[in-house]
Amino acid sequence: MKKTDVLVIGAGPSGTIAASLIKKAGFDVIIVEKLLFPRFVIGESLLPRCMEALDEAGFLEAVKAQGFQEKFGAKFVMNNNEICDFNFNEKHTQGFDWTWQVPRANFDKTLADECEKMGIPVEYETEVTDIKINADDESSITTVRYTDGSTEEIHARFIVDGSGYGRVIPRLFGLEKDSNLPPRETLFTHYEDKNRDRVAQEPNRITIFVYNETTWVWVIPFSNGVTSVGFVGFPDVFETLSGTPDENMRFLINSHPELKERFGDCTMLFEPVTLKSWSATTDRFYGKGFVLTGNVTEFLDPMFSSGVTLASVSAQNAGHLVIKKLQGQEVDWEKEYMEPCMQGVNVFRTFVMGWYDGDLHTIFFAKNQNEDMRRQICSVLAGYVWDESNPFVRNHSKQVKTLANYIRNSSEVNPV
Ligand SMILES: Cc1cc2nc3c(=O)[nH]c(=O)nc-3n(C[C@H](O)[C@H](O)[C@H](O)COP(=O)(O)OP(=O)(O)OC[C@H]3O[C@@H](n4cnc5c(N)ncnc54)[C@H](O)[C@@H]3O)c2cc1C
Repeated sequence: MKKTDVLVIGAGPSGTIAASLIKKAGFDVIIVEKLLFPRFVIGESLLPRCMEALDEAGFLEAVKAQGFQEKFGAKFVMNNNEICDFNFNEKHTQGFDWTWQVPRANFDKTLADECEKMGIPVEYETEVTDIKINADDESSITTVRYTDGSTEEIHARFIVDGSGYGRVIPRLFGLEKDSNLPPRETLFTHYEDKNRDRVAQEPNRITIFVYNETTWVWVIPFSNGVTSVGFVGFPDVFETLSGTPDENMRFLINSHPELKERFGDCTMLFEPVTLKSWSATTDRFYGKGFVLTGNVTEFLDPMFSSGVTLASVSAQNAGHLVIKKLQGQEVDWEKEYMEPCMQGVNVFRTFVMGWYDGDLHTIFFAKNQNEDMRRQICSVLAGYVWDESNPFVRNHSKQVKTLANYIRNSSEVNPV
């Protein structure tokens, strides 16, 4: 049987960031990863707040060396001519004002390679199938299965579950809980973006097009000339389409004038992919002998690109607390881990819900915007969702509703 201080499940951003921090504190770590990297995963637009976690994990220089597309903001476009452009350097909260747009296969492989350079074994094609926790000392025995069907056991003092959509511990331990967000669906692909320069789209930001009241489109340019494009909406939008994924994507692109001009004659680099019902949550983000990080905690929605940032920050916090625990100190997981995680998730939940119920359309596309409020909203969009000096963090729900109602009811000058 193999032995380690900490077993990390999954080599995505949350697993690798937690692994690096724990290893740097002097503990043995093993990462087990079901797939062989590089592997595709969606989630290509990062937020500036995740840079702090990448930096502390020691990954920043390696990621810089990859030459990924720098991202300085996010632009929202409605009816082709109403534009709301946020630049992260206008944000209210101190911190990074830029980040990257990344093909995740390369980005995640870069982080995993950095772990290996630090002496963390990353065991690919190794799938966790069972975990038994010893209630007395919280150590565990995890069973992993290799691609040839053989199995092995790993003894660990602690487990970090960063298994993303695999949701290993919630599934094995019955901790799954329904999300309070309704099911949504996406159809996406990557395009060879040959018209990028001709139609003067800045590559250094993502663009979100409002397709209709509840459907939107992401456009995420990469530095290699490829651009990721995805439609997101309620399932009924896609149910009316009866073609192949390729035909459906062409139909959607051609039904929107700006997207048609940009991508109508471009080559798709893979058959468009459908994903649905991705929102998921869990009863508790910790338990005897384990902590959950990243998507395994709660994943909301792709709107506002919060996934990798919440994954990175939860991994950063979890890493610190696992170190504390292994050093023999008391950890109040509820206060020190679950509450900060939920605070970040809940601010983004308000923004996600505010987008789909139209409040944020009203706010983003209002005339005569108030500069202070723009900066505060910009901070949330940059992922700085733990800064209590920001009213859109402190009183997120009330602030968004009140402002949207004010704008709707105001016949004169809008505050935002
Ligand atoms: C349509 C859509 C669009 C999105 N767009 C964005 C975006 O623009 N920006 C953004 O920040 N986020 C986005 N996300 C969210 C993003 O995909 C995730 O939040 C992010 O990948 C979470 O990182 P992670 O490290 O928690 O998990 P992952 O990156 O999913 O990594 C988990 C790893 O665990 C491995 N694993 C799973 N099961 C097992 C097992 N049994 N044993 C061993 N290993 C296992 C997996 O193979 C995987 O490599 C989007 C999500 C969706 C659905």
